[in-house]
Formats: sequence, C-alpha cells, structure tokens
Amino acid sequence: DGQMEISPDKPTEIEICSASVFYGKERILENLSLSIKEQRVGFIGRNGSGKTTLLRILAGLQELNNGKVLIDGTEVAKKRNEAIKKVGIIFQNPDHQIIFPTVGEELRFGLTQLGLSKNEADLKVIACLKQYDKVDWFERSISTLSQGQKHLVCLLSVLLMKPRVLLLDEPFTGIDIPTQLKLEHYLSSLKQTIIHVSHVPETFENYQRLIWMDEGIIQADGTPKTVIKKYRTAMKNYDEKTI
Ligand code: ADP
Repeated sequence: DGQMEISPDKPTEIEICSASVFYGKERILENLSLSIKEQRVGFIGRNGSGKTTLLRILAGLQELNNGKVLIDGTEVAKKRNEAIKKVGIIFQNPDHQIIFPTVGEELRFGLTQLGLSKNEADLKVIACLKQYDKVDWFERSISTLSQGQKHLVCLLSVLLMKPRVLLLDEPFTGIDIPTQLKLEHYLSSLKQTIIHVSHVPETFENYQRLIWMDEGIIQADGTPKTVIKKYRTAMKNYDEKTI
C-alpha cells in the first residue's frame, strides 16, 4: 500500500520515557513517552508545537527537566561519545549547520571527530562524493552552492558518520520541487531509521507512522492516513477560530 520497505539488520529502538522540557513556566514537552521501532516516522504539528525540541532531545542536545531518551539503550544526553555514533541531526537551515568554508573540510570534520586521521577521513569523503556523483565538490567553496546543494552537504556529513538514526527538521524548507524530489530520493534509499519533523502533511504519505504533536503532547499517533485526516480537520478549525 505504498509504504516503504527497508530491511535493516536489526531495527533501532528509540525510547522516550516521561520526557518533559520547560522554558521557564512554558511547558514545551510534557511527560512524553513514546516507543519507536519503525524506520520511517514523522512528527507533524503547528509552528511552536515542540517538534524541534523533540528532535533536540532525541539527539541528546537538549537538557530534559524530567525523564530520559534512550537509543538502542544508550542515554543520548549523558553519553555524548556514543550518541554521535547513534544519531545524526539535520537542521532546517543548512547555514546554521555548516561551519567550514569548503565541502571537503565540512565532510571531513565529523569523521575526524570520530577519531579518523585526515587522510583516512578524506578517502571516505571522496568515496561518498563519488557515490553521489559529486566528486568535484571536494574543493568547492560552500558559498558557491545552492540551498538544495547545501542541504545535501549536511545530509552527507551526517551519513558519513553512519548513525543508526537520522533526525530531519523540515529539510525541504526553501527548496524547489525538483530538488526536494532528489533529496527525497536519496533519503528513501537509506537503511537508517528516519525521524522527520514537518508541518506539511504530504511529506508523510509513505511513512509507517505519523505522530501529531500540539502543546507539548501527542494528539494522534497512527498511520499517516488517519493522523493526517485528524490534523487537517483540526487545522481547519484553528483557521475558523483565528480569522
Ligand atoms: P516547533 O519546532 O514545533 O516550531 P519548537 O520546539 O521550536 O517548536 O518550540 C516550541 C516552543 O518553545 C516555542 O513556543 C518556542 O518559542 C519555545 N522555545 C524554543 N526554544 C526556546 C528557548 N531556547 N528558550 C525559550 N523558549 C524556547
């Protein structure tokens, strides 16, 4: 029925246990518990509904006021060295993610963080660029890349580290449809678990599971078809209330 079929060696298990995040008095996530074994999972919700915060706790980048997050048993916020091997995050804006002036330096960085020498890292970077038919990008200045190309650099820099889980925060913002299709094509072939956050329902049509978040809690959790229907109805009602 159009769902993706990807067979991993062993499914990655993500456990969010009673997670709460507050900013001052504002509750962003409230006592959230979720168990995820599916390989393609979406989170949908309005702006400000806590989606980015959720990705940050999954990556171990955000302190929890309560609870914990485990990926294959590792508490990602506590064991940072293990966490960077388990989970990679791609932010909404590649300009906030990329730190080096050239593609080669950017892609090399994560690998040297994992302990590889510069030469070992460069061999992997070049092999990876070849795989995507972009070997001429090695010396390329980041500033000469389009937005979609920068997104691809972010994706490759994360994939090079071979994480078990890929976290995507609205990765299609500001890119045109052909570029989006190309990125979707790259993503669909990956064996990693993908947790993808967006406010665009169509993104998730072929996913195995979709979770709708609002005001820090889960409003619906199920197949994309049923969750999208509930979400659309609710969003329409918001419109009627606000205009
Ligand atoms: P989404 O990704 O769904 O748009 P976020 O997780 O980015 O939602 O934000 C949820 C809420 O938390 C928003 O109201 C936002 O203003 C607030 N928020 C996010 N980061 C911070 C922060 N560092 N300090 C205070 N409030 C924050």
